[in-house]
This record gives sequence, C-alpha cells and structure tokens, in this order.
Amino acid sequence: MTVRKLVPSQIDTVVFPGGTVEAHGASCIGTDNLIPELIANGIADRLNALIAPTLNYGITRSLYRYNGGITITESTYQSFVSDILDSFAGIGFHNVIMLNGHGGNNSMLKAAAADFHRRHKANIAVIHWWELCGEMTRQFFGHVGGHAGTDETALVQSIEPALGGQADYKPELAYYMQPGADVYPVPGSILLYKEGEGYPNYDLSQVKAYREKVIATVGDFAAMVIDRWRSFGL
Ligand SMILES: [Zn+2]
Repeated sequence: MTVRKLVPSQIDTVVFPGGTVEAHGASCIGTDNLIPELIANGIADRLNALIAPTLNYGITRSLYRYNGGITITESTYQSFVSDILDSFAGIGFHNVIMLNGHGGNNSMLKAAAADFHRRHKANIAVIHWWELCGEMTRQFFGHVGGHAGTDETALVQSIEPALGGQADYKPELAYYMQPGADVYPVPGSILLYKEGEGYPNYDLSQVKAYREKVIATVGDFAAMVIDRWRSFGL
C-alpha cells in the first residue's frame, strides 16, 4: 500500500544495492553487499528515493575458490538484473541508482543498464563506488585503496569493527596486482594496486569520517545526475 501511495506520484527514484559473496582477506565475505547497503541508507532520503532489497549474489571469478566464494554465470546475472530493472519500471520508478559493490559485476551491469534505458525510456546510473570515490580515498588516507584494502575495510569497520577482522589481519595476505597476467585463483584475497599502498592499517577513529565522505561523494554525484536528467526532460 505504501508503494502504491508513493510511486510514482511522490517518489520516482529507486536505489538498488548489489555485490557478491567472496573472500576479502581478514574482512568479512559479505563486504561487497554491506557497503552498497550502507551507502544506500546514507543517500536515499536526500534523493527522495526508496531502497530496493540488496542483490547479494554476483559474479565471483578470481576469488571463487577461496572459502565462502559464491558465483553465478555472467549470462544468468545479466538476465536476473535485467528482470529486476524491468520490474522497477513496471512499479513506476523512472530513475534507478544502482550501487555496485563488486568489480566482477561491472561489465554485465553496464550492458544491463544500457539495455534498460533504451527499452524503457527510463534513467539509470550504475555507480561503482570505489572508483567514483577513488580520488577522495587517495586524499583521505594519503594512498589508494584496493580489494579488501583501506577503503573497503574502513567502511565495513564503520558498521562493526569486528567485521574488518583486524585480529587476523596480516600484511602478507596482500597481493599486488601485476599487469600482464591473469591468474586463477589470484594468489591472495587482499588485492592492492600500488606497491606499498592500500594496507588497511589506519586508525579506527577515521572510519566514520571516511564513511561520511563516501556517502557525500556518491550522494553528490547521484543528485547531480538526477537533477540533470530532469533538466533535460528525461
Ligand atoms: Zn570487495
């Protein structure tokens, strides 16, 4: 009844979080779902949006064989996401802000989004938060993040410090991604991009401030995009 009352007359935007289940060093295997959910809760009111249930499963590739890894095939994932997006349009949502927490989903989400906007004449932005916030993260921590690196671990710890697995964390868990090689499974589940940078060894007092910056950065971007869609009558 609430949805019928609000959509689309009062609310025409939906925020849709999604990630996957995979190893994250000492941090929890639900990291890629917890973070987009956290951001969704932080931006929905500002965007006058409802939050859809999280799509907790995604495309896990190079970390699949680490304990806890769950994957679905690319074609299944794209179809599944497309069906959900179609349902959003059917409900009456005109703008979709998808918050993606997992790099393995990027290309299929891009394809599903391009298809959705064309078929429904509706609007969609898929936000890969760690990329959108990359420069802010570098400024905040003084270095770049990484998979289960500074950025992800800080956000998980802003929800619950124990989820970051600080007691089990060792710098040797980290593997630096080498250009020029595709390795399955990748030999480490903390994946960093720059030698000497990205270790999640910050002061716990920083994590809440970082969370607010991520929410503000994603919220600013999504609000700007929605405003511009409206200004063009889209
Ligand atoms: Zn992750």
